[in-house]
Amino acid sequence: MAALEKHDTDPKATVLVVEDDSAIRRGVVDRLIAEGLEAYEACDGQAALEAINRLSPDLVVLDLGLPALSGYEVLRRIQAAGGPPVILLSGLGSEADRVLGLEMGADDYVTKPFSGRELVVRARNLIRRSRASNNDDSEGELYTAMISGAEFEVDFARRSVKLDDIEIVLTPREFDLLACFVNHPRQVLTKPQLLNLVWDAQVGWVGESTVTEHVRRLRTKLKVADGSGSCIDTLWGVGYRFEPDS
Ligand code: CA
Repeated sequence: MAALEKHDTDPKATVLVVEDDSAIRRGVVDRLIAEGLEAYEACDGQAALEAINRLSPDLVVLDLGLPALSGYEVLRRIQAAGGPPVILLSGLGSEADRVLGLEMGADDYVTKPFSGRELVVRARNLIRRSRASNNDDSEGELYTAMISGAEFEVDFARRSVKLDDIEIVLTPREFDLLACFVNHPRQVLTKPQLLNLVWDAQVGWVGESTVTEHVRRLRTKLKVADGSGSCIDTLWGVGYRFEPDS
């Protein structure tokens, strides 16, 4: 499906906007371009997946309510391919839909109707992290520990994580969250603290359920091969604590 159109360019960050509602799509694209970003658009999921393969965008803005291939299915395929970070556009105003999207690996979401400014701020944050994670030519500052009996290694410069020498694929946001825990070992971090440190957000702007979901995803990814153990403890009503073995 040739549902793709190239817009004003600048050798800057590339964003693919996936939305079937042409007015919303155009509005988002125009705003991104006005902010100096390079924006492409796709009006359905199939076109989106083709565009991601071809363009390797720095970020995808993905509407959940798409015809044919659903936004969730597009998200699932992007995640399976280790694709770029994703901001969801949710028109449903439903916490359950947002949580499901985050569970499936989205990095952030905005709810329609949203302000262009809010979307641009979130887009820029994710692009900055994504680019940092792709910048792997600098010398690595390494953190190593044992977690649940497995060798755990975080390379901050490469933004890579290994468990028993096997690379764990994290989204940029998940890496930032993990880095935050690793930089504060055995220290209780509250959800508002994590929102502030990892999401650059004032409390209330990004919900605390976002933290909950990202922690859950991080735990799932950091489970050792035998499925045991979590290196991130929950202190109910207080927050989370990163606990290496020793
Ligand atoms: Ca839609």
